[in-house]
Amino acid sequence: MKFDDYRIADGIKTAISKLGYKKPTDIQYKSIPPILKGEDVLAIAQTGTGKTAAFAIPILHLLQARKVDGRSNGIKCLVMTPTHELALQVESVFKTLGKHTRVETYCIHGGVEQEPQKEKLEDGVDILIVTPGRMFDLLSQGSLKLNRVEILVLDEADHMLDLGFIKDIRDVMHHLPSNRQTLFFSATINEEIKNLAYSLVRNAIRIQISPKDPVAKNIEHSVAFIAMDDKRYFLEGLITNNPDKKMLVFVRTKVRAERVKKAMARVKIETDTIHSDREHADRERTMKNFRSGELKVLIATDVSARGIDIPNVEFVVNYDLPETSAQYVHRVGRTGRGSSKGQAYSFCSEEEKPVLAEIEENLGKPITRLQVSKSEYENTVSATIEVEESKKYDVMALIEEHEAAVEKHKKRKGKKKKK
Ligand code: AMP
Repeated sequence: MKFDDYRIADGIKTAISKLGYKKPTDIQYKSIPPILKGEDVLAIAQTGTGKTAAFAIPILHLLQARKVDGRSNGIKCLVMTPTHELALQVESVFKTLGKHTRVETYCIHGGVEQEPQKEKLEDGVDILIVTPGRMFDLLSQGSLKLNRVEILVLDEADHMLDLGFIKDIRDVMHHLPSNRQTLFFSATINEEIKNLAYSLVRNAIRIQISPKDPVAKNIEHSVAFIAMDDKRYFLEGLITNNPDKKMLVFVRTKVRAERVKKAMARVKIETDTIHSDREHADRERTMKNFRSGELKVLIATDVSARGIDIPNVEFVVNYDLPETSAQYVHRVGRTGRGSSKGQAYSFCSEEEKPVLAEIEENLGKPITRLQVSKSEYENTVSATIEVEESKKYDVMALIEEHEAAVEKHKKRKGKKKKK
């Protein structure tokens, strides 16, 4: 099957061939025909499968065909996504594929001024991509009307539920016509997602793209056993020894992301962070720099990095191990995309060993152990500074320090008495 065989507008075919797509991916092969027929779709597919184009191609075709004159008379398609980054990525796919059509795509999300968004909505938009928060602001102010929506897409529905958007999703349904086409995409499925899906779709075509191997074959996995406080020296070593590699470093929390960035800055290593506490414009700039390769090391939390497609990430570093083996799959899926090779490094502390065992079981193979000698990364001036720094934040270290001091004090007192 080739894209040429589909009954889709020539302008869309031109855009597809300019992108270099030769043939549809599995999810595209299965989704495009039913979406073109106007059916509801319930698809379980991960990022990296080509799922965005799987809904963008037929939606663009349908809206282009329905557009009698050049003007937009209301939003015809609403795409709900969990994060700013994913919203912008989806917008870019629609814009690229719809370049030679008259279909107008626009993306609204929080963290930026509302006025330009309102103006653009007034000018007329056919496809609107949103994150739930800003959409509700504009809906409640009456600047956004969804009563002409014909197609609703929920992208990464599982991630939206993880982020607590269930009520928002349900609420938005009151603003949409009940007679509409609904396309529901999720990377994973459980009872809660099934319930939500079945409450939104009607006689949906079910599509499941289950990768035979959960993780791409061209990724090499290794783990180094490193104490929590020593991880930063090891990261420093890894970056210094691989200055040209594009690395995505995962940490557990936003606070840790900033802390690791500061630690690297002290040893003159440039990194940047991405997490929900950063201003939208900053996040966008950081992503742009990382995509272009100007920024080599990006420190991210799971929430901010999920679902995003970044080309040529060579190393994924699990600075902190993820909480679940499913998250490990999501993280390492950022590297080794297509036919390129990828490396996944995990820094595992004593307390993280149980989750490592779970990850290995899920992968179905052991992860290569890296032999690390502490002296390899400890003998630097920076190390001394870092030890001071890490103690400042580490409550356990402070308690231990305090207890040791009390112990020392007691011993000294004991000695004095003996004298
Ligand atoms: P997605 O799953 O939507 O995040 O897409 C993952 C990547 O696959 C993106 O970089 C797309 O450009 C790419 N892609 C989508 N469809 C195709 C196709 N038919 N052939 C080759 N690459 C594709």
